[in-house]
Amino acid sequence: MPAQEVDKAGCLSDNRQMTEIAKLKVGRIPSVNRAEEVARKLADFIRSGAFSPGARLPGEHAIADQFGVSRAVVREAVARLKTEGLVTTRQGDGAFVGDWRSETLHLDPAISHDLESVLMIDELRKGLEAEAAAFAALRRTDAEMRKIETARARVAKITAARGDSVVADVAFHRAIAEATHNPYYVAVLDYLTQFVVPAVRASRGHAALREDFAREVEAEHIEIAEAIRRRDSAAARAAAQNHLDRALARIRRAEKEVLPQDKTRGRGRARVPRPDA
Ligand SMILES: [Zn+2]
Repeated sequence: MPAQEVDKAGCLSDNRQMTEIAKLKVGRIPSVNRAEEVARKLADFIRSGAFSPGARLPGEHAIADQFGVSRAVVREAVARLKTEGLVTTRQGDGAFVGDWRSETLHLDPAISHDLESVLMIDELRKGLEAEAAAFAALRRTDAEMRKIETARARVAKITAARGDSVVADVAFHRAIAEATHNPYYVAVLDYLTQFVVPAVRASRGHAALREDFAREVEAEHIEIAEAIRRRDSAAARAAAQNHLDRALARIRRAEKEVLPQDKTRGRGRARVPRPDA
């Protein structure tokens, strides 16, 4: 966003919302991805109702002072909020809280390249995948079971040929979501899955880890599929939980051994390579 859009939103010393920010004692942010941290804190203020839709955000200077960050960081944070539909900007008039309650969920696509964010998305997927597997065990038809089994076998075949199994893996989980007979599982899982694909691909693509990981993934998939076949809802849930726990562990392990650590981003943080990188 051009700097002047935010500049003009300054001079809000008597603004009620500025007081709200001041009360939050955000202090200096010591870490790493400062724009992301500032964006998350501002997003919290907005979603908590501290700023109502249509309210003008404090100016770039004021926010920069409060968070102890540069104006460039604030600009980047506001740009992220704009991508998420939380903020709108009006040329020459500053940044305003968007009418986000009527917006669809829109996470910043850039989170798929931030390891900690990917792990958080995978945590969220864990609950959904587990319940989807449990419902699939109760509701799947024979045709759906065949589709799940075909998708599972395809993952195994591709990994045996040392190919890229990530798309096939997504199809396996999608077949389970379809067998819930609840289209919202499919919709939400489709949405979330896109953010973890680059990390999963990076973790599985590495030769030294590929054999190990492929064997683990195959065993976990068989456990889920077999529980769904037996219509054992509790076992399907447990197997899916285990698969997601192990997936998180695999991404972390790959991060340690494979993914480049960006020293400027602090401990435990790494950029996940883009899939085409
Ligand atoms: Zn899987």
